[in-house]
This record gives sequence, structure tokens and C-alpha cells, in this order.
Amino acid sequence: MTDKISDASELKAIQLEGLKWTVNHAFNNSPFYRRQFEKAGVRPEDIKTLDDLARLPFTQAKHLREDYPFPLLSVPEEEVVRIHSSSGTTGKRKILSYTKKDIEDWTTFFARALRMAGLGPKDRVQIAVGYGLWTAGAGFQAACERVGAMAIPVGPGNLDLQCQFLVDLKPTCICCTSSMALLLGEEIKRRGLSDKIGVKTVIQGSERCSDSMRRAIMEHLGAEHIYDITGLTELYGPGPGIDCHLHQGIHYWADYYILEILDPETLEPVEEGEIGEMVVTTLRKEASPLIRYRTRDLTRKISGPCPCGSIYPRHDRILGRSDDMIIVRGVNIYPGQIDEILSQMEGISSEYNVILERRDAKDYMTIKVERATDGDPGLDEKVRSNIQAQIKSRIMVSANVQIVDYGSLPRSERKSKRIFDNR
Ligand code: ZN
Repeated sequence: MTDKISDASELKAIQLEGLKWTVNHAFNNSPFYRRQFEKAGVRPEDIKTLDDLARLPFTQAKHLREDYPFPLLSVPEEEVVRIHSSSGTTGKRKILSYTKKDIEDWTTFFARALRMAGLGPKDRVQIAVGYGLWTAGAGFQAACERVGAMAIPVGPGNLDLQCQFLVDLKPTCICCTSSMALLLGEEIKRRGLSDKIGVKTVIQGSERCSDSMRRAIMEHLGAEHIYDITGLTELYGPGPGIDCHLHQGIHYWADYYILEILDPETLEPVEEGEIGEMVVTTLRKEASPLIRYRTRDLTRKISGPCPCGSIYPRHDRILGRSDDMIIVRGVNIYPGQIDEILSQMEGISSEYNVILERRDAKDYMTIKVERATDGDPGLDEKVRSNIQAQIKSRIMVSANVQIVDYGSLPRSERKSKRIFDNR
């Protein structure tokens, strides 16, 4: 398979070829996949077009745990050259295996992502993400070297060393999580080092990051661009997608995997542009191929070509997890959607609660939103009706919005609970 793709039909041909290869490979070499296929009553020869993807069974995180320690393994062990693992919050870790070619493929498309972010031999890249079992460090390192940039493998944490290297080595790019970027930016500002560093580009992991946080990071670090890179250990690691310099969605490498956006309840495709769960099928992965793997991440496809000219299709930023979905009057709602609408409104703080109730067999949604610290209570009615109208037009449900005093909603040092389902 080639890496230079000229148009969408060529992309489709690569996808069909890769899909057929993956299905045959998994069926013939992985006892797990063979069992799954047999249960679903489907055989590799049934896959004749891309539409036949829908006939294949889903793979889930629980399967990786059941098939521990080498889940989905589809090659003889002697072909495995490395493993990576993601931290499991419950039970066993997910361990993913890589052949030599898997590592090579990952590096190739990760380098494509870095080139999309404008990186090349003249760049110095401070890699402030985790090394070791985690995929991030190893992935960034290899891709960075592939594009000919200078890798500075600092790893996560260690604020003093990060600041020292930002000043002494003047990296042009820093790779980290958005929380780390903000922390580092604030630290640089606090130490009065803003004029002494040369960061132009920030590449950050797909952790959700609000627009106001983005602005703060750019300002503190003096960066010109922040790129969102996607990543999932099961899908090699970081690098399967990134936004271009126009920042109008994330381009993803459709020649390495097929992305389906499905309703997490019905597992049927959502309408074009609607939010759903990302389900991925790899096209070239040897050691641990993925067939219709449910990532639980939510996003939507962005239709039409990007003005940047790239032929790689786009999806939106990650908008949350499907486990967080709520259903109100038959409409699927994700907290990320409410988050997104509220973060664009003026006069309110970042804190809100959603309360769901059922009366006379009908669902009711109340959204309590805090007024901004310096907000004028005289404007409450205007803000309230504005939010209500936005919710109605963008999520298609009626909500009863209430503006409450700043600081009156509960705060948490951990992840805040915002949804209260009393039905
Ligand atoms: Zn683009």
C-alpha cells in the first residue's frame, strides 16, 4: 500500500483492500476473532464491499481484558517486538502488541501528523509526555526523529527542568497534555521568562480543552498554533489524527483505519454530522488488529473538503465519552454538547448542573448555570432565554434554565459531578 493518495476513490480502494486483509488475517490467526466471527455467522469471504463492514461483530474493551495478557494477538509471538499498555482504572491493564511493521506504520503516520503541524528538521521538540509502558513518549520520539526534528525527551512533570530547557534549548514546539501546557504557561509567566523562550507550536493530547483555556495557553507561551492530536493505545497510540493549521476539525488517517460514528444505544450509524461513538477498524495492523472497536469516545464527522486541501477526512474534537450519555425524551444528549454551548455564552461562569426529573411519564431537564463573578443580575433574564434558545435549536430539547449566584453550585477538586438524574 502506498502512502501518497491523490483522491477519495483511491482512499476507498485502499480501505477495501485493507478491510479484506484485516478480516482474513484476524479470522485465520486469532482464536478470539474466529470465535467472534463464528458467533456472528460471518466469514471473511462475505466481505466484498465497504458496506459489508456492518456485518462484522464489535470488539470492546472488556474483550481485551478477557483475552489478557496478549489480547487480539494475531501473529506468532516471535513476531511481536514490543508491547504497550494503558493504565486500567478497573481490573487488568490493556496490553497491546506490536510487530516491527506496526511500529513502522505508526511512526509513518505519526510523522505525517507532525508534518501537518508544520514540523521539520529545523524544529526542536520538547516532549513532555509519559515514556515507558505508555504509548505517548515512544510515539512522539520516533515520529519526531522521522521528520528530522531534534527530540528533547524530558518526559512529564519536573516543572523546573521544563522551564530551564525552554529557556536554554529554545524548543520551537512542546508536546504535552493541555493541563500541562496551561501549568507550564502560567509558570513561565510567573517566572518572567516569556521573552526568553521560543515556542511557536503546542501539540496537545486529546484531553478536552475549552476555548478559553486554549487562549490562555497560547498567550502564556507566546505560541502561534495549538494542534490537537488524537490518540488511543488500542489504535497504536497517539498520532492517528491531528488538526491542520486552519483548525477546522481533526484530519484522520483513513488509509490506516476506518472510522464509523454510531449511535451508542442502537449501534446504527448516526446522520451525517451528528454526534456518536467513534468505532474504528484498522486496515494494516498486524499484531493486535481492531475490528469495529468501540472507543467510547464521542465526536461527529465534518463533511466536505477542508480549505487546506488535504484529502484526509475530518472529525470534530473529542466531545466526551458515550458512557456519559443521557436520554431525554428520546434524544441522546452528551454533557460535552451542553459544555460547548455554555462555553460560548457571555455572562456566566464555567459551572453548571443538569437536573433530570420525570413527572407524569414525561422527562424534564433543568439546567442551573452560575452567573459570572462580575455578572449583572439585571441581565439574567436575557442570558437565560438566550441559553434556552441555543439548547433548543442545537440539542433539540426544551430545558428550563435558571441563573444562580456565582459560587452557589458545589465545587470539587476531582472531576465535578454535573448531571443529576433523578428519574
Ligand atoms: Zn485542513
